[in-house]
Amino acid sequence: MDYIVVGGGIAGLTAACELAGAGGARVTVYEQSRKLGGRGGTETRDGFSLNHGPHALYRNGIAHRTFTEWKVRVAGRVPRLKGDAYAVLGGGLFAFPADPVRLLTSGLFRGLEKWSAARAFQWLMGDTPKASATVSDWLDEKFGVRERPSRARLFLEALFRVSTYSNALDTMSARAALQQVRFATKNGVLYLDGGWQMIVAGLADRAASLGVRVETGAAVERVESGRVRVAGRDVVCDGVVLAVTPDAVESLTGVRMAGLAPGLTQIRAACLDLAMKSLPRQAAVFALGMDTPFYFSRHSATARLAPEGAHLVHVAKYLRTGERAQREELERFADLAMPAWRQHSTFARYLPELAVTHAVVTPAGRPGVDALNLPGVTMAGDWVGAEGMLVDGAVASARAAARKIMSAPAQERKFAAA
Ligand SMILES: Cc1cc2nc3c(=O)[nH]c(=O)nc-3n(C[C@H](O)[C@H](O)[C@H](O)COP(=O)(O)OP(=O)(O)OC[C@H]3O[C@@H](n4cnc5c(N)ncnc54)[C@H](O)[C@@H]3O)c2cc1C
Repeated sequence: MDYIVVGGGIAGLTAACELAGAGGARVTVYEQSRKLGGRGGTETRDGFSLNHGPHALYRNGIAHRTFTEWKVRVAGRVPRLKGDAYAVLGGGLFAFPADPVRLLTSGLFRGLEKWSAARAFQWLMGDTPKASATVSDWLDEKFGVRERPSRARLFLEALFRVSTYSNALDTMSARAALQQVRFATKNGVLYLDGGWQMIVAGLADRAASLGVRVETGAAVERVESGRVRVAGRDVVCDGVVLAVTPDAVESLTGVRMAGLAPGLTQIRAACLDLAMKSLPRQAAVFALGMDTPFYFSRHSATARLAPEGAHLVHVAKYLRTGERAQREELERFADLAMPAWRQHSTFARYLPELAVTHAVVTPAGRPGVDALNLPGVTMAGDWVGAEGMLVDGAVASARAAARKIMSAPAQERKFAAA
């Protein structure tokens, strides 16, 4: 069997390992850029390891399970929210209510609000929303619709944003979002030493050990059942996994995405990465906006991402659909969490618009791996399939897309020879 994977990001590399791991197949990955990894890559600059914005690996997710099963090294540590973690409300900093005790002692909640916040936290951990509910529907049901949302509601909204990387609360499935918050709070996340390049390198090593051929700088131009056009030549194969964006799938196959999955909503974030030679006296480790969609985290406090004695801070704004961020907004949030940071900074990198994921999970779900209805062609990515968000969605769909291709009846696979 000859299989082709288009795209050398984490989904593509995972699909290649799954295909080659079954044995007996020749697998080729085509990646258009010179480097593997896509959005999972890491840039190294002056000894700092910069992911494409802040990245955390959910320890309960299928990605972590798969990497462990495949012995892909994911060395890092779990961030702990202690005294220097803050909730930001009305421009003020409050102790971050990271657990039930701090929820009661934090100045974020006053009087009866403490009780209301504790009850909200219980809903978060135990409730099962209706399958048709969005996060906003669920919050309206729990808190009632009010002109001024309570602090408990703002707190939950912030937890949804930070766990899902998304500010699309009015379209995101409440069930999927609650599961993601539970992932984040129950078993925590890992920040990886040296960044996510470790995952990419580990998957690439595994793929190589299974005999996968990887061509970088090889843009695929056209995909049909049993045939791929790459760098001006036609390559015949028994199956293709498309591990690229929805737009790329559309232009490669000619199949309109709108027909398959109405309303794919891309989730974007603006990111400001601050490489710091030293820290100002007052520097938070973590700060999360309650009434504004901002995030601040010093990842180097947990993982090795900066040279000895230096620090790496990520600031992000979770964008709404169609929204654009201004760099100054992110800088102002950094001013709150780490006043006088400019005097201590080595360099700052601003990325105004990153695609965190190509489809938020709505109550209607995401397109399936075989939604194209092209024999022998499946799709993978963080916008495909029913399981997982972010990289968990990418890995879950990649494994499913590969298995689907391998289980296709022989007559379907042999369309190329016909
Ligand atoms: C700011 C930010 C923060 C994030 N934080 C987290 C997090 O904390 N936790 C988490 O789990 N996930 C996070 N993610 C998401 C995670 O990075 C992605 O889910 C994951 O990297 C997606 O991998 P992928 O392979 O599906 O897609 P991509 O990485 O986009 O890979 C697609 C690849 O296909 C290639 N390609 C496209 N067209 C062609 C073509 N025609 N021919 C050949 N190659 C082609 C591209 O060059 C690219 O390399 C974050 C993402 C961003 C941007």
